[in-house]
Amino acid sequence: MTLPKILILYTGGTIGMDLQINSKKGEVTVAVPQLSAQMLTKKLRQRLPELTRIAQCDVDVLMNRDSAHIGPDEWILLANHIQRKWRNYDGVVLLHGTDTLAYTSSALSLLLRPCIKPIVITGAQRPLSALRTDARMNLISAVEIAAHGPRKQVNQVCVFFDNKLFQGNRVRKESASDFAAFKSPYCPPLAVVGTTIRYSDSRISQDQPKTPPLTRRFSNKVVVIHLTPGFPADCMSDEFLSQVDGIILVVFLSGTAPTHLDSFLFFLSRIKGRKVPVVLVTEGGTLLPGSSGSALHYAAGKELRSAGCFWAGTMTLECAFVKTSLILGQNRDLKQFSTLWRKNFANEGDF
Ligand code: ASP
Repeated sequence: MTLPKILILYTGGTIGMDLQINSKKGEVTVAVPQLSAQMLTKKLRQRLPELTRIAQCDVDVLMNRDSAHIGPDEWILLANHIQRKWRNYDGVVLLHGTDTLAYTSSALSLLLRPCIKPIVITGAQRPLSALRTDARMNLISAVEIAAHGPRKQVNQVCVFFDNKLFQGNRVRKESASDFAAFKSPYCPPLAVVGTTIRYSDSRISQDQPKTPPLTRRFSNKVVVIHLTPGFPADCMSDEFLSQVDGIILVVFLSGTAPTHLDSFLFFLSRIKGRKVPVVLVTEGGTLLPGSSGSALHYAAGKELRSAGCFWAGTMTLECAFVKTSLILGQNRDLKQFSTLWRKNFANEGDF
């Protein structure tokens, strides 16, 4: 029986890091080693010899980075690399640090369309070389799942962590210490791993939308602004606003904002005057308004329900940021933004 072929793409993150223990200072530091494909292949053979029973794995090292140092340029590089190679494989496993994994998985879900192979992104909270590591189980299951295509639930960009397979553009990192590092608000897991891998019912999993792909170009002038009580809107100078292509505004949980402050209302009108799109997410992950009939429309959020403001619905902040940056990377026209924002590219959320 020939084993499935899986491409393991490595970018860095804790999974490949070395633990350095300084007993004098009582400190444990983790640093990114400069791994080559040969070194990583050797490491995997030593630590995970059982991988060879699941699949024939090829290893490519694209970079050795903490994921804090991965952004739009690397998302494009990853998408191009995967697309150049995926026809030769049954699936791809991408190893990535957890800190910005949700941004990369959102970006790849929007860039790799149609997604013809399973792309399973994983990482770990403890290095592969550590005792009590989650890297072993994450990597073994990710490879097994990547080998399970073509199957609707996995032929897409997914994230595997702590025995759960999630849709890649619906995850958020929620813990830096628990093995369950990710949650997926408003979107149930695609599979749960126990004694067997239990995939969700394929009849309820969504088809890939047919919306044509966008050019692989991101605006690097999208900012996230988190509102606070008494928000100092005057600090957002005209000079600052003139440099911004788009704003993700994090509002209070029930879709409200300090609209009693003239400075805040003036801030909104200055943004509007510049035709800069404002995408609204709430502190706790968004749902209002429209999509939920039960949402209360508070008067303190009225000014946010106006032209130029776009609710993220069930989209995560990470995906809203990536989608906004991608749309504004095409051009900066507000009308076009409005049309593209409403399009469903990769089941990224409901409005
Ligand atoms: N700082 C690390 C990273 O995101 C954390 C991790 O991998 O879990 O690359």
